[in-house]
Amino acid sequence: MIYPIAFILGALGWTLVEYWLHRELGHVGGAKNPFTVEHLAHHKDPAYFAPTYKKLIATALVGLSTGSLLFFAFGAVGLTAAAGFVVMYVNYEVIHRRLHTHPGKTAYGRWARRHHLYHHFRRPKLNHGVTTPIWDFVFGTLEVPQIVKVPRRNALSWMLDDDEELPPELADEYELIGKKGKRRPRAA
Ligand SMILES: [Zn+2]
Ligand SMILES: [Zn+2]
Repeated sequence: MIYPIAFILGALGWTLVEYWLHRELGHVGGAKNPFTVEHLAHHKDPAYFAPTYKKLIATALVGLSTGSLLFFAFGAVGLTAAAGFVVMYVNYEVIHRRLHTHPGKTAYGRWARRHHLYHHFRRPKLNHGVTTPIWDFVFGTLEVPQIVKVPRRNALSWMLDDDEELPPELADEYELIGKKGKRRPRAA
């Protein structure tokens, strides 16, 4: 029983790190580092993501550091917690990218998009968690949006139909603002 608990605690540990890194390095602290540079670029152009090789380096660093640290501190149980941490980290990377590239199909998928895109387009000091609202709730930075207003020039591809309009099924959740024909060129 201890191993599943360790795995879950590790996964939960990642969600706290996800929240804290994003809030403290991305939106509160002023220091420049590889994370803040990439984060700023992603906020300027929501279609931009750090190159995959950088993500792989980050994954290796996250895995090796948490794995060795927890193994030396707690042995096999610690290693299991590190596995939960890394699995949730990879999960976060996949979920975050999909939020931007594909429309939500499940209730969770739709919630996660609204939560995160509200952070992107309206309130960058709120909704720092990407995979879960737990830590935003705990630290008082959670806001549940009504309709999320999205500048048309930054609209994600799944928010636009062939006429560059919002698909009707998204009308209860999003609103495009600004004039047509002013979209920022997409990053590759
Ligand atoms: Zn942010
Ligand atoms: Zn994002």
